[in-house]
Amino acid sequence: MILDLFKLDGKVAIVTGANTGLGQGMCIALAEAGAKVCGVARRSCEDTKKAVEEKGGEFFEIIADLGTTDHIDHIISEAKNKFGKIDILVNNAGIILREDAINVTEADWDKVIDINEKVVFFLAQAAAKEFIAQGTGGKIVNICSMLSYQGGIRVPAYTSSKSAVLGMTRALANEWAGYNINVNGIAPGYMATNNTTQLRNDSKRSDEILDRIPAGRWGTPDDMMGAVIYLCSDAAAYVNGFTLAVDGGWLAR
Ligand code: NAP
Repeated sequence: MILDLFKLDGKVAIVTGANTGLGQGMCIALAEAGAKVCGVARRSCEDTKKAVEEKGGEFFEIIADLGTTDHIDHIISEAKNKFGKIDILVNNAGIILREDAINVTEADWDKVIDINEKVVFFLAQAAAKEFIAQGTGGKIVNICSMLSYQGGIRVPAYTSSKSAVLGMTRALANEWAGYNINVNGIAPGYMATNNTTQLRNDSKRSDEILDRIPAGRWGTPDDMMGAVIYLCSDAAAYVNGFTLAVDGGWLAR
């Protein structure tokens, strides 16, 4: 039965940035599809845990600051201690800092690149080591952006990091496909989360953005659910290094 390929029963997923926004939506989706979810965040994931449990799923919180690589070993070992293995990593946590390029400081540049790019790579590497040691293969989904394709305005470090993650997704897919590890990306469009509060509060920018979205609305965490389930499932077994836009048609314009 084709729909069985989308089921994630018995799988263990790590999702970063699990306390809110798109990460929270993807935790709920993965749990509904049958996976046990380890949510990583620097503060409590109480709401996500509640939402997952209401759907009959299992959620385990791992508190860690993803601003450095220091906690990666801890995240992997906590997930393994709790559920015995790892099958899926969703590299979702990220930040955006808005500033004219001419004024961006080195400290702010590093802050964005460290979490959005460096930690994404080393967490993917740590997960892949587990998948290889387990002999199971696995799935890695990196959260990209429209700014993996476009330049954006006043977010040069963010654009650099998200463009890098798209390239990294291809590079890792090439190296690890032979281990039955699928590395893919999702590029969300303009979604109503904390990440875009500033934009949505700027009525001029908000109107400009809405006017350009063929679907005529901002996306929501629910809009990510189908894409993440697909890419984390056996239905996508032969999909490698591809970044799927979930953007209401933004890139099609
Ligand atoms: P969000 O609501 O701001 O969520 C970002 C998540 O990352 C939060 O859980 C946040 O935790 C976590 N995070 C940030 N810094 C962290 C750190 N140092 N350590 C641990 N966790 C940290 O925004 P979102 O829209 O859901 O963003 C999720 C991903 O989608 C990000 O990679 C973002 O760049 C990407 N994205 C979003 C959009 C959009 O329109 N919203 C579009 C394209 C791509 P705290 O709550 O503690 O800050």
